[in-house]
Amino acid sequence: MDQQERQLREGVVSAARELDALGLNRGTSGNVSCRFGDGLLITPSGVPTAELTPESIVPMGLDGSYPEGTKPSSEWRFHRDILAARPEVGAVVHAHPVHCTAFAICGRPIPAVHYMIAAFGGPDVRCAPYAPYGTEALSRLALDALEDRSCCLLANHGMIAAGADLRRALWLAQELETLCQQYAVALQVGTPQILSDAEIAETVERFRGYGLNAGNPAKSAT
Ligand code: 13P
Ligand code: ZN
Repeated sequence: MDQQERQLREGVVSAARELDALGLNRGTSGNVSCRFGDGLLITPSGVPTAELTPESIVPMGLDGSYPEGTKPSSEWRFHRDILAARPEVGAVVHAHPVHCTAFAICGRPIPAVHYMIAAFGGPDVRCAPYAPYGTEALSRLALDALEDRSCCLLANHGMIAAGADLRRALWLAQELETLCQQYAVALQVGTPQILSDAEIAETVERFRGYGLNAGNPAKSAT
């Protein structure tokens, strides 16, 4: 393993730990990947975050191949498919944060209740219909829901964030959970006011170059 691979593996472990530290994941739920050469590096399946080591991270080809004796995350299909279909994406984070998942359980997309929705590329965050975890069907539905977006919800499951790198994918995951929490509280307070598509389109433009280069990775990530 060369220095670059080691650093990327350490980055995947740190990202998985941060998801736990931020309260976005618990136990063995969720998984993390990043682009590596012609393929990807991904967290192993069913390993508690505290037990992850750089050596336990699984290298995969875009053809779905992985070394004998290793067991990549059960969600390797959507990680692989997102990285294959979206050249601007360098890292994918999947988690089951409480507020994102509550809306996903109700099959509810997130409308433009706050200007921060623009960080995800457009006026809503879609919710992909339910399919069993780890399946090709789930991957296809997730890819559709992610069209022109950096994030989506997965019905009765959780969420996905795709960013130019691990740092940005983590940031997006955290922002989406915050937005879902705000929306959930707003629904209890009164009737959320939805911003117009034009207002969000303007904010998407404003976001180019803001902070962690927020916006649609399809247009702003490098
Ligand atoms: P893995 O432990 O196989 O990555 O699965 C966790 C998960 O969130 C499945 O959707
Ligand atoms: Zn999951």
